[in-house]
Amino acid sequence: MSIKPIIHIPDPLLREVSKPVERLDEGLHKFLDDMLETMYDAPGIGLAAIQVAEPIRVVTIDVSRDDEENAPIFLINPEIVWRSTIPSLYEEGCLSIPGYYAEVERPSECKVEYLDRDGKKQLLHADGLLSTCVQHEVDHLNGYLFIDYISKLRRDRTIKKFAKIAKQSGKPSGMAAHVEAPMYELDDVAPIAMAREEDGNDAVS
Ligand SMILES: [Zn+2]
Repeated sequence: MSIKPIIHIPDPLLREVSKPVERLDEGLHKFLDDMLETMYDAPGIGLAAIQVAEPIRVVTIDVSRDDEENAPIFLINPEIVWRSTIPSLYEEGCLSIPGYYAEVERPSECKVEYLDRDGKKQLLHADGLLSTCVQHEVDHLNGYLFIDYISKLRRDRTIKKFAKIAKQSGKPSGMAAHVEAPMYELDDVAPIAMAREEDGNDAVS
């Protein structure tokens, strides 16, 4: 297994629509293992293949708590087939937008159809954090990011900051991988960051 570099905004790849997986072979299994290792290492609770610059419809998720055993889920060609009409609010972050968090409202529950690691068709009824994570990751496969749900002003400001960082690092792709300083404004996120610590949620995906 190996850890893959995660791309950041404003890398245009993050806006691409990923292609369905057509063959589940050894190469894909290895890729899934690499994605999982990359996600745990980050650390994050979800990762879409496009975040490691591979535009295929593959997602890894693990929303187990630190004191629980790992419970990885592999979603291949996931499709959300049902969404609850009841909204819920979660503090979200994204491994492709490191250090930035915002509250996003999404349907509190969803059902997702997908192929598992063995190519078997599965239907998962997700709620709570898992529901949010599934929707966040499937959005990635369609070129959407969680900042698309916040105000245009805040979104533009965030993108601008990351573009500046990418430019300074001399990497045109936006892969400013290891940024030391926080990129958000404290008045934006400080109270939320504290709440995150208290409830142990780590919705970074
Ligand atoms: Zn993300």
